[in-house]
Amino acid sequence: MKVAVLGSIQPQPIEGEADGSLDLAKVEAAIKQDDFHFARTRLLALENTMQGKVLPQAYLQAARELTTRRGLALHLDGARLYNAAVKLGVPARQITQYFDSVSVCLSKGLGAPVGSVLCGSAELIGRARRLRKMVGGGIRQAGMLAAAGLYALEHQVQRLADDHANAERLAAGLRELGYTVEPVQTNMVYVAVAEQAGALQAFCAARGIKLSAAPRLRMVTHLDIAAADIEQVIAAFAAFCVS
Ligand SMILES: *Cc1c(COP(=O)(O)O)cnc(C)c1O
Repeated sequence: MKVAVLGSIQPQPIEGEADGSLDLAKVEAAIKQDDFHFARTRLLALENTMQGKVLPQAYLQAARELTTRRGLALHLDGARLYNAAVKLGVPARQITQYFDSVSVCLSKGLGAPVGSVLCGSAELIGRARRLRKMVGGGIRQAGMLAAAGLYALEHQVQRLADDHANAERLAAGLRELGYTVEPVQTNMVYVAVAEQAGALQAFCAARGIKLSAAPRLRMVTHLDIAAADIEQVIAAFAAFCVS
């Protein structure tokens, strides 16, 4: 709703593919013809990582070619951009080179207390600053928060590999217990718990582990989750299995 009210934007969601991408043929088919009865199609927004999956670089290049050919801007919701970069072993700019604008979260895996940044042309950022002020997003003495964000960017990017290893270990441990766990690429573990979701949530809560009660349960590793915590979660699931 925010995009409609604040941006006068009419989003056109497209069902995603199993690898986290949007089928570019479906994207192209969704571009509205130039007709004043329709909203003008202006922008393609992709997310990377998407549900913990890294979009292939060749796919990003193909998306860039499509958007250039059809006169669209290309935005990256890079909330977890650095997880993708660390997984691919490339500098983030190798991913962002295809995009006109990029947003990145400093406060998720990167571990800053708050914050996201928007990157783009000087013109775009100028407009974004104006809109940010308008919706009450201006902060005074924001340098305190910016310093935390800089620290995260300077010291907490490469360690995302630890989160990825922890996620792998969690997945392997749960698979050993018989759970169906989706292949892990970065810091997200999706495990099928079906109708056990509620009981598992309560069981783990009693052991100091907070889970959501989703049948397709998502668990995400980050700066504040240590390898020992992973073992604790696996042990709780193991105890649940024999309870
Ligand atoms: C968290 C998140 C955002 C928003 O970040 P804010 O800091 O709340 O603006 C955007 N996209 C994705 C995919 C996210 O996970």
